[in-house]
Amino acid sequence: MKTFVKCEMCNAELPADKCVFATYKKVIDGKEYTFCCIHCAGVFERRKNENK
Ligand SMILES: [Zn+2]
Repeated sequence: MKTFVKCEMCNAELPADKCVFATYKKVIDGKEYTFCCIHCAGVFERRKNENK
């Protein structure tokens, strides 16, 4: 069975079982989010902060 995780920002499907380093994880406000790259993580975090 294949496990996929999704990038919270661009919805890209990332194969979680292939390589852990293919995903970028970041904890924002105490919750762990998964992204495809550091760029998506940065945009997501900025948008979240703007909504506060
Ligand atoms: Zn992404």
